[in-house]
Amino acid sequence: MRVLIVEDEPAIRQTMLRVFEREGYFVDEAEDGPGGLSLAVAGGHDVVILDVLLPGLDGFQVCKAIRAAGVTTPVLMLTALSDVDDRVTGLDSGADDYLGKPFAFKELLARVRALARRPAGDSTEPKLKYDDLEVDLLRRSARRGTRRIELTTTEFKLLEYMALNATHVLSRSKILDEVWGFDYDGESNVVDTYVHYLRRKIDAGEDRQLIRTVRGYGYALGGA
Ligand code: CA
Repeated sequence: MRVLIVEDEPAIRQTMLRVFEREGYFVDEAEDGPGGLSLAVAGGHDVVILDVLLPGLDGFQVCKAIRAAGVTTPVLMLTALSDVDDRVTGLDSGADDYLGKPFAFKELLARVRALARRPAGDSTEPKLKYDDLEVDLLRRSARRGTRRIELTTTEFKLLEYMALNATHVLSRSKILDEVWGFDYDGESNVVDTYVHYLRRKIDAGEDRQLIRTVRGYGYALGGA
């Protein structure tokens, strides 16, 4: 496996380099848009990890130019600007996936593995399925049967985490760490609040309730 990392911040680039090399990847690196573009077009990568804010050419421009050159290598965009507009611009410019900064390296590795498994040019998207629930990891949306479910960013992260661990009972504190981050110090009932939101969207009006409360402990998607 060979990844190309295009990131202008030396500390982040070096950390990613070490993480990927430790996982057995070969790594190429570039510190600006034009450098990244020429390496990506030269080819031979399984995944390109592309920062959005870069000197020279930004990540959107680089991605468009890579696609215009006929290169179909999967592109994962990284950005601190984690709003919906940026995500849409990224996907429109030909990126395959999107990760907002700051990110957990575990998640970065998981997404790179998922992208590397997809044959070039394959439009089938990574999806998690449980019962008639389908979670679309690229579009950050969900369906139950034919019913399409729109989710906010946090609702999506929560559902993604629960679907990745379907049938496992997850404690409130584990959910809080995984979805909101270890340094979260907001309201303590935020997990219950968001599970409630999710339930309204996923389970309301359905015969089978997929989100399960484990009293005094936490929640599970399915199981039991
Ligand atoms: Ca940057």
